[in-house]
Amino acid sequence: MNVFVLNCGSSSVKFQIINTDLELFEADGDKMIAKGLIEKVGTKEAIINLQAGGGEPFKAVEPVEDHRAAIMRIKAWMEEPTTKIEGVHGWDDLHAIGHRVVHGAERFTKAVRIDKEVLAKIEECCDLAPLHNPANLKGIYACYEIFGERIPQVAVFDTAFHSTMPEDVYLYAVPYDFYSKYQVRRYGFHGTSHRYVAYRYRKLTGKKREDVKIVTLHLGNGSSACAIQAGQSVNTTMGMTPLEGLIMGTRSGDIDAAVVEYLFAKGVGSVTDIFNILNKKSGVAGVSGIGNDMRDIEKGADEGNHRAQLALKMFANRVKKYIGAYMAEMNGCDAVVFTAGIGENGARIRSMICSGLEALGIELDEELNKQTVRGKTGRITKPGSRVEVWVIPTNEELLLARDSVRVIRNVERLW
Ligand code: AMP
Repeated sequence: MNVFVLNCGSSSVKFQIINTDLELFEADGDKMIAKGLIEKVGTKEAIINLQAGGGEPFKAVEPVEDHRAAIMRIKAWMEEPTTKIEGVHGWDDLHAIGHRVVHGAERFTKAVRIDKEVLAKIEECCDLAPLHNPANLKGIYACYEIFGERIPQVAVFDTAFHSTMPEDVYLYAVPYDFYSKYQVRRYGFHGTSHRYVAYRYRKLTGKKREDVKIVTLHLGNGSSACAIQAGQSVNTTMGMTPLEGLIMGTRSGDIDAAVVEYLFAKGVGSVTDIFNILNKKSGVAGVSGIGNDMRDIEKGADEGNHRAQLALKMFANRVKKYIGAYMAEMNGCDAVVFTAGIGENGARIRSMICSGLEALGIELDEELNKQTVRGKTGRITKPGSRVEVWVIPTNEELLLARDSVRVIRNVERLW
């Protein structure tokens, strides 16, 4: 099947076309045959970047009115004779559409085929994820308009993987009514990524799902850690929204909620303004004053910038704290897995995170750590290390494609 995988942001449309099917999963026979990104959607200067297989990318800056127009632009490119996508000459060669949806609340614990009822339920989740779900929905509605029921569409939720968290983990210690009346609880995000690298780890080591306890660290612009036992998420750092937990590019992560009232009383702004600051102007960007890119912060730290050094330390320490917490919670673990932009490339940060964890059984091999960057997969601990540390590149699109196939073929799970 050719699956059109879509990840729509408020002003961006990111896609891949992946050729895959049930019988290809085991041998990793899936193939990405096209990919692209349209940014600044809704402006006269949208940035278009489209690429078929290993071919030359098509780049342009053009007006793109909305998400529907962006998808129609991809269609037009696909159908041009010069575009050579293996086995795809036009819309009719697409067999499924897989949409990333950030928040599925308690309504969605796995991927589902989209119909009118599902759409209404996703709408209901917008309340809990006002920054993300409306953008995801724009993509779904656009595809619905364009394709109708002709091509099956599937929604894959970031929160779904964490639906196995036990009640005592997902509840906040606030009046119980807040949960029963308003659904205030921890949901967790990045589920597709945590689930993907956990699966890859088992595949690489030949270990059985039931036998494995791991801590996965998705460290990118948004960051979260996850404790995974027998293939299920038992805890994760993000909460009701992606603001909780680790320190991120621009998000504060864990913070005393009283700070909000205090800043409000000081006249910093409305509650909404303050949450905007916590989401968009905090994290390593806020501490360092440099920006959200770890490479720039590392450079600043090397040049002696104290706040840059501080941001790195704070980032690493928060991750360290959760590794310890999750190891305590699971009574130890077999491995820690790093993934996403910082996790896959930031050897220095990985080293900072893992240093001083010998008592927990982690002994990093600095040489292996330095070498395992830019898409490489591998173990980065010394042979005798009781807990292994791995770097495993994430591939959320692949899991989105596979989940779409599973839903359409009515298969619960193959691994
Ligand atoms: P992601 O959200 O997974 O795409 O990750 C993007 C982030 O990864 C960037 O903002 C950088 O902070 C970080 N990153 C990328 N390359 C490196 C690197 N070589 N060293 C440290 N951080 C990196």
